[in-house]
Amino acid sequence: MKNIFFTPGPSGLYFTVEQHLKEALRSNIPSISHRSKDYVKMQQETCEALQELLQLPDNFTIGFTSSATEIWDRMSENLIANYSLHFVNGDFSKKFHSAVASHGKNAEARITEAGTHHNLATVEIDKEVELIGLAQNETSTGAAMPVEDINLLRSKYPDPLLAVDAVSSLPIPEFDFHQLDSLYFSVQKSFGLPAGLGVWTFNERCIEKAEKLKSEGKYHDSYNSILKIAKMAKKHQTTCTPNVMNIYLLGKVVQDMLRKGIGQIRQEATYKSAVLYHLFESHPKLTSFVTEKKFRSQTVGVAQVQGGSEKLIEALAKKGLNIGSGYGQFKNQHIRIASFPTHSKEQIEMLVDEINQLDF
Ligand SMILES: *Cc1c(COP(=O)(O)O)cnc(C)c1O
Repeated sequence: MKNIFFTPGPSGLYFTVEQHLKEALRSNIPSISHRSKDYVKMQQETCEALQELLQLPDNFTIGFTSSATEIWDRMSENLIANYSLHFVNGDFSKKFHSAVASHGKNAEARITEAGTHHNLATVEIDKEVELIGLAQNETSTGAAMPVEDINLLRSKYPDPLLAVDAVSSLPIPEFDFHQLDSLYFSVQKSFGLPAGLGVWTFNERCIEKAEKLKSEGKYHDSYNSILKIAKMAKKHQTTCTPNVMNIYLLGKVVQDMLRKGIGQIRQEATYKSAVLYHLFESHPKLTSFVTEKKFRSQTVGVAQVQGGSEKLIEALAKKGLNIGSGYGQFKNQHIRIASFPTHSKEQIEMLVDEINQLDF
């Protein structure tokens, strides 16, 4: 029986990863020096592919870290002197807030109920705020922020740095990079790669802010501080030995996505999520946790299960269909189903058919 992973991260590998892994071993990718010409060429190719896929403007740097969690610490150390504001609507947005607070900064959490997102049209933000953090796709609840709302926030408050967590949604949302300053993801979610690589994109406003903090003695100069990452990225390198294998695989998968066409991938995402939400709305024991349609994630569908989610998760696992349990406090009440680019329309349809036939 072949297992399919619809878990929201780590998830199923992008369907071309196996072939690229074999090729990587054949061409000794895991053994090449990260200071060699071959490496530099490889990182450059990965970044160019990513730049094209995301339509990343030239004023953005692509940096590599160990994870998205690391990026929260780096932003805390390098981009905030005193005040940050966090739109919290679940566990991941909360973790960024906690990271900044643990660095002794004045991090304000604006909290809204799980399963919803913030109404950015009516928010008021203090002048002192230097950085705003929000999770565009809150993986713990399946609530997503439409890109237009992020752009609206920026038009109202252009001064603070805007840091967007797109860990479990990229490359699906079409971000306007002129309306944000820092955007990051981990590869084990929607890109379908093995875990262990964070990708941090940031613009010159972040670099200027870091330089200012450095000159004021308010900058923590770690091995992966933003200025070091930026300096090395110019040479298509990293500050320390990175996850070379994953940087290689990311480049290959992104090239595959480009060949398929991002338009096609986004269209399929819309279709697959519609199939999932239709299940949640039509099944007598399931209800979509996110009730407001505009906030429903296209990549992570979350449903409440009447009587608890364990039985359903177990029954599906027996058939080789692995879905996620609820996150944190919702562990035994929710199911979370990823519909990432690696998940085909047919796989999602099959999963939905199985759920409809199961007695749980
Ligand atoms: C998974 C996830 C993270 C953390 O990613 P790591 O790779 O575990 O550091 C952060 N934010 C969101 C929204 C996530 O889904």
